[in-house]
Amino acid sequence: MLPIGEAQKKVLEEIPVLGQERIHILEALGRVLAQDVAAVRNVPAADNSAMDGYCVRHEDIAEASSAKPARVKLVGESPAGKPFTGTLERGQAVRIMTGGIIPEGADTVIMLEDTERQGNLVVCLNDPGANAHIRIKGEDVMAGEVVLKQGDVIRPPEVGMLATLGHAYVYVRQRPVVAILSTGDELVDLDEPFSMGKVVCSNTYSLAAQVLDCGATPLSLGIASDNIEDLRSKLKDGLRADVILTSGGVSVGKYDLVKDTLAEVGMKIKFWKVAMKPGKPLVFGTIGVKPVFGLPGNPTSAMISFEQFVRPALLKMMGRVNLFRPLIEAVLAHDVKVSSGRLHLVRCSLFEKDGIKMAMSTGTQSSGALRSMVLADGLMILPSEESPFKAGDRVKVQSLHRETPLSPESHY
Ligand code: AMP
Ligand code: MG
Repeated sequence: MLPIGEAQKKVLEEIPVLGQERIHILEALGRVLAQDVAAVRNVPAADNSAMDGYCVRHEDIAEASSAKPARVKLVGESPAGKPFTGTLERGQAVRIMTGGIIPEGADTVIMLEDTERQGNLVVCLNDPGANAHIRIKGEDVMAGEVVLKQGDVIRPPEVGMLATLGHAYVYVRQRPVVAILSTGDELVDLDEPFSMGKVVCSNTYSLAAQVLDCGATPLSLGIASDNIEDLRSKLKDGLRADVILTSGGVSVGKYDLVKDTLAEVGMKIKFWKVAMKPGKPLVFGTIGVKPVFGLPGNPTSAMISFEQFVRPALLKMMGRVNLFRPLIEAVLAHDVKVSSGRLHLVRCSLFEKDGIKMAMSTGTQSSGALRSMVLADGLMILPSEESPFKAGDRVKVQSLHRETPLSPESHY
């Protein structure tokens, strides 16, 4: 049986990075840049004022104070968007507003609050220091500088930066369409009547949600029964997608027909079975360049297998550089024994006690139990050969948090 790390490597080796598309920056949130973005001009484009006040030559107001004010002559104004065109000479001042361009000859801005007016004279009551309150041309971004890089995820600050640099449109990586097929004679969909012996098909929905959560597009192929004809026709339907996911029917049971039917529609099998719990019966292969994941049917096995193999694959397709969840160190809150001979991924919650991050199992770890998945902040990574684990042992936890949890308290 393949160790999980090797299986992950084998998957990622087969994954192509998708092509580019050009989209508006307001549609680009969460997308991945397919181009480096360099500045065509300086930002700010010219030296400008950070304050409302007067621009002057520093030598004219050096060491000014309210006891010994300096007087300069007002010769014009430079509001934002309408620069003063002349050159400021010795003994002169130009009224300037925040964002106004610093005129030729001026080197310092004195704040309005530190001045008084006497007719056309500006009385300066202190010395703010040479070059005070001036935002230097290019201090944010220099012309020619690469500001955003291929592979960067576009968040609100990147959208703002793209706008600042004058880009309305941007090249990003395409998003894969991911076909999802649930398999099993016992499954009923949400719009079908439930009866004893049936199981509500939840995998289509949880997997579609995981696909969406990655930023990719799910395409539901519905439910196939456990017969080759139905499987074959629904799998063929999935060939229009960029990735195919199936769930169920990959174990060794009499009705586990998915692996063989996938091979029949053209899949080259790369591996079957991974030394992990939950999730052992995973099958992975390719149809042409199209990755195909035969996930186990148990709801939690399917989701955890998605996390380990499908998510990094989809992120790679979309041009992401960092493909894996953060790894956290935590202290076990209780004893844990694992004994399958495989690597256990134990659903756990994380909490702080006396400033120490602790990990605690979220309850029954059955491959079918979704509740412990709902409660999980992460997955403890526990190798069987190191078992038993004792309360107080340090363990590694794969974080499943999409974002840092919100705080109930305001910060102020
Ligand atoms: P299988 O791998 O097909 O033997 O399925 C393993 C277990 O997962 C069985 O108990 C199935 O009923 C259950 N299962 C399979 N597919 C789904 C699904 N789409 N939604 C919910 N449970 C499922
Ligand atoms: Mg089945």
